Amino acid sequence: MSEQRLRIAIQKSGRLSDGSFELLKSCGLTISRGRDKLYGRVQEMPIDILLLRDDDIPAFVADDACDIGIVGQNVFEEELLNETHEAPAQEVMRLGFARCRLMLAAPKEWTFDGASMLEGKRIATSYPALTRAWLEREGVNAKAVMMKGSVEVAPRLKIADAVCDIVSTGATLDANGLKPVSTVFASEAILIRNQNAFSPEKLVVFESLLKRINGVLTSKDAKYIMMNAPRSAVPAITEFLPGADAPTVLELAGNPEKVAIHAVCRESVFWDTLERLKKLGASAILVLPIEKMMA
Ligand code: ATP
Ligand code: MG
Repeated sequence: MSEQRLRIAIQKSGRLSDGSFELLKSCGLTISRGRDKLYGRVQEMPIDILLLRDDDIPAFVADDACDIGIVGQNVFEEELLNETHEAPAQEVMRLGFARCRLMLAAPKEWTFDGASMLEGKRIATSYPALTRAWLEREGVNAKAVMMKGSVEVAPRLKIADAVCDIVSTGATLDANGLKPVSTVFASEAILIRNQNAFSPEKLVVFESLLKRINGVLTSKDAKYIMMNAPRSAVPAITEFLPGADAPTVLELAGNPEKVAIHAVCRESVFWDTLERLKKLGASAILVLPIEKMMA
């Protein structure tokens, strides 16, 4: 790989990889994968992709094997707390996908009335540092026991009293006689970077990629909304439109009483938003998706 190309580490396959590939694709990048499937090459920009296990991504970025990476905040923070690297990678931005929660789960028969119940107990987890940090914040003395997988079977095997694990639907916990009782860490995918300054060539690519990612993230929920309304309703409608800057107000041919209002809404537009607009006097309301946006 040439020194001039920006190297991005992403998860090879798993719960982060679809979102990561989708994000890069939305940034206009086409990735051609090598035959060994460990490398990908971007056609449009001088970028190389490394496909890794998610656990390896923070270290690859910290050690300068990659310049930037996409990883779960849970994995990244756990690694930071463990202080395995003198110069760890740095978080650049949140990416809004792969949202999940690290949760404390206890046997169903417990009536859980606060963290103090865990005093002196053993908690099985793949995230001992995050779990210990939470226990400390809660002022509880308990032991976090590291388990790499199948954490939820630990209480049945009497290895631990409770668990701290990533929960999505809670079905796995339920099947093992456990219930989630408290959120320890809320996570999503983040972009991380190596601490060192990038070469001028890489910096140009990095900054242009960041701009595109920002554009993709801000246009995700954004909608272009158009409607007709009585001139007198313009102030009320402008104030109500969710996350809109000053809208464009246009003449309607042959109708001096009414105007057309066009606006970019940066927040979600729901059916009740439209109903409310109708009540404020709007008619012929159209909501259009926005494909790309750049400030
Ligand atoms: P690898 O083989 O790369 O080590 P893995 O099995 O360790 O993968 P995955 O299950 O693919 O990891 O999860 C990767 C990351 O995705 C997690 O660290 C977390 O940030 C996020 N994640 C986990 N579970 C969910 C979920 N149910 N929904 C959304 N995101 C999740
Ligand atoms: Mg992993």
